[in-house]
Amino acid sequence: MAGNWKMYKTPAETVAFFEKFRPLTGQSDHCEIVICPPFTSLAAAADAAKGSAIRVGAQNIAWAKEGAFTGEISGPMITATGATHVIVGHSERRQYFGETDETVLKRTQAALEFGLSPIVCVGERLEERENGNTEAVLVRQFRKGIAGLTETQFARIAIAYEPVWAIGTGKTATPEIAADAHRTIRAQVREKFGKDGADAIRILYGGSVKPENTRALMAQPEIDGVLVGGASLDPVSFASIVNF
Ligand code: PEP
Repeated sequence: MAGNWKMYKTPAETVAFFEKFRPLTGQSDHCEIVICPPFTSLAAAADAAKGSAIRVGAQNIAWAKEGAFTGEISGPMITATGATHVIVGHSERRQYFGETDETVLKRTQAALEFGLSPIVCVGERLEERENGNTEAVLVRQFRKGIAGLTETQFARIAIAYEPVWAIGTGKTATPEIAADAHRTIRAQVREKFGKDGADAIRILYGGSVKPENTRALMAQPEIDGVLVGGASLDPVSFASIVNF
């Protein structure tokens, strides 16, 4: 169960979140919990999560270790904060910051090189779904991105299916629509990494997940977890998603 805070919460607000969230999820050992704050709050989050099972992740990663890349943050800088995970290829990065399937692959490889666990996002835009291109988009994103990993690298990632039309819009994909897309992705995984890879990969659904719809989504055997934006900002709401 992963929370993407997007561009919300200062370090002080992060500490306040953990004070409320930790007691609500202290017994939640049925799943892994990852919270992804902005870069500037990573250290505060990692510190506030110490002694709990909650893990902390960044929302992006540079493909290089260091260098003349103004505004970028590298793997070693992320791990130095205590973070262990990173979201790669979020649709907001693809949509507003020029992220492509190729750069998603490079960033994923960098995350793995520096010991981080990547959550790699894929998902179609509204017009792509309306034009009947959902499957083609997912296949392209997989083949040009994730399929470039070695088997050993692949074993260390999670995939998030996030239909762009469902992110931050209040429109959740029905559990059936989400499961259908997950099947498409898993079939690609099977083709490239075999049955073991397909059985082991965790595919999270993301897009307007809320406490009220988590149980129905998680009832789909194809859905292994959720990536939550807006509803992860509130400790009570995210805890009730975690404890669905
Ligand atoms: C996200 O940011 O990954 C996301 C799914 O956002 P929301 O839950 O707000 O739709």
